[in-house]
Amino acid sequence: EISACLVGSEMCIRDRFTADASHELRTPLSIVNTEVERVLHRPHTSQEYIQALSIVHQENQRMTRLVGDLLTLARADKGQTVLKCERVDLSEIVVDAAEDLSALAKQKSIEIRLSGLDELVVWGDRFYLTQLCTNLLENALKYSAGIGKHVEVKLDREPHRARLQIIDEGPGIDALHLPHLFERFYRVDQARTHTLPTESTSSRSGSGLGLSIAHWIVGEHGGSIQVQSSPGKGSVFEVCFPL
Ligand code: ADP
Repeated sequence: EISACLVGSEMCIRDRFTADASHELRTPLSIVNTEVERVLHRPHTSQEYIQALSIVHQENQRMTRLVGDLLTLARADKGQTVLKCERVDLSEIVVDAAEDLSALAKQKSIEIRLSGLDELVVWGDRFYLTQLCTNLLENALKYSAGIGKHVEVKLDREPHRARLQIIDEGPGIDALHLPHLFERFYRVDQARTHTLPTESTSSRSGSGLGLSIAHWIVGEHGGSIQVQSSPGKGSVFEVCFPL
């Protein structure tokens, strides 16, 4: 009876996942459809065509990323992901992620400050550790845009662990959301789900999968991830890896 129950709840989780994933894909698909129908309806100026194409492009990028994230999680669920673990210098990973996001930081007028960047070698998969760092840093930049001026990335060696902290001066997260933050598709502001992109929403609204992927990556490395946040002051995401 217990196993029947477990199978039932597993089915339920899977059904929910499929429903959430379909819902996330439906919005960008419908935006692309509306946009294409709108411009095909009658002739437009080249400026209007460019505008329509850039919306289609943006939605396409969103779907590409979403499908990539869904695949990562589907493979993880099936236990199909084989990590290619080697000795990896975390400071290199942090510098690479910061470089990758330097254009976004500039666009949001936020300075990324890196500290404690002495060599700090852990046993891990370079690709997934970079993805982890990028997800956390990108969130820090996205959500503190227009509020904070700095995002700090700190690396520390402790007696038996390596500690990575990503500290932002953004809106912070209310305590009631913290227990759910690493759940798939969870967003603090559900109302901020995806709509037709505007200047203020285009780069902010995500699918709510980034932190669940971060959580999975940390778990695969035998580490831990937690968040501390003060609404109105900012958030600190802390990841620890065994040394
Ligand atoms: P998303 O794609 O929506 O960014 P994530 O899984 O990365 O998905 O994050 C889940 C939610 O957690 C976000 O929608 C946002 O509400 C909140 N969040 C994540 N990082 C931060 C941060 N640094 N500051 C404030 N809120 C954050």
